[in-house]
Amino acid sequence: MSDLRLMIAGPVDVDDEVLAALAEPTMPHYGGEWMDVFNRTIALLKRLFETENDMLMMPGTGSTTFEAAVASLVPAGDSICLPSNGFFGERMRHIAEACGIHPVMIKFPMGEPVDPDEVRQQLAVAVPQAQEAGRPIRALGIIHHETSTGVLNPLEAIAKVAREFDLPVLVDAVSSLGGTPLPVDAWGIDICATVPNKCLAVPPGMGLISISKRAWQMAEQNPSKHGWFLNFRTWRQYIEEWGDWHPYPTTMPTNNIVALHHKLESIFAGEGGLEAYIASFEKTASHVRAGMAEMGFALVPDPAYAAPMLSALTGPEGVNLKELQGWLVKERRIMISGGLAEQSGKIIRVGHMGRAQEPAYVDGLLGSVRDYLGR
Ligand SMILES: *Cc1c(COP(=O)(O)O)cnc(C)c1O
Repeated sequence: MSDLRLMIAGPVDVDDEVLAALAEPTMPHYGGEWMDVFNRTIALLKRLFETENDMLMMPGTGSTTFEAAVASLVPAGDSICLPSNGFFGERMRHIAEACGIHPVMIKFPMGEPVDPDEVRQQLAVAVPQAQEAGRPIRALGIIHHETSTGVLNPLEAIAKVAREFDLPVLVDAVSSLGGTPLPVDAWGIDICATVPNKCLAVPPGMGLISISKRAWQMAEQNPSKHGWFLNFRTWRQYIEEWGDWHPYPTTMPTNNIVALHHKLESIFAGEGGLEAYIASFEKTASHVRAGMAEMGFALVPDPAYAAPMLSALTGPEGVNLKELQGWLVKERRIMISGGLAEQSGKIIRVGHMGRAQEPAYVDGLLGSVRDYLGR
């Protein structure tokens, strides 16, 4: 059994009750008993997403759901607008390009938030331009929490700008949903996707995705052929034809869904419910940030845009951050994340998700970093 404590950007350490739920005998992915678990899980997910939209649980990962969403909604040859301020914004570009969709990038520096006013100004130019070029912009895709730098983008304002141009909004909420408020219907979000293995603290294996009526219609009308499994039309067909016993095209990761169901129930039944669950991230983040600041570490984003699920930090002058990371694993069995791409070696990222919120993890990390610096 691994004794490594995960304080990374995901996956995260899962509590024993969820692990016990995961270890229950495997259920078939159809039939009455299963549909009861499945339907209750979907109902809890709708409460979590604050939406009346349809929800899918799709075997795979966060990126799986994004590839499905982008390719299902946007015809090949047309465009998607992607405001981007980091590694995962670039991931969306790769997904679009791989599906033959033209990415219209609106770039912001890493570590800074996407600015809704700048998006509005650029869209005012890009929308007619793309139309004229014969590849109209069909949607706007945005990362809510840019996990590479810990910046929480101002999603509500960005979604509002997209609506001004009548563009459906596709949100990568992979590392934000469950850790910060994200009312999908109130903010008019067409596609919202997350995973169990970040803020929800359940093992990996699925994408969780909400789909608006407009998004379903776009998928229905999309003339592109881009495969079977990652095509929302396939999923729609199974909901319509096999809805009462098997509303998805393939085998489902039933153990993972049982574990997710257990976790969602405990979030909503816990003292203070979802609100208290969300508040726990901010509490851990401020504790870790205060402790690290005392040792000379500085938060990368402007505190007004710092996501509570993760702290991206620069180190004190002269400290080799890669060496610190290696030492923490080897000597203290604590794993934190480093910087991605051009941030490699320049920052560390400490996750505040899952068991990383427990005092033993937080104090263990702060004490260990102090020991490392004092050697
Ligand atoms: C972790 C993460 C992903 C990657 O998801 P996979 O499950 O590895 O496909 C995508 N986007 C964001 C914002 C993430 O934090």
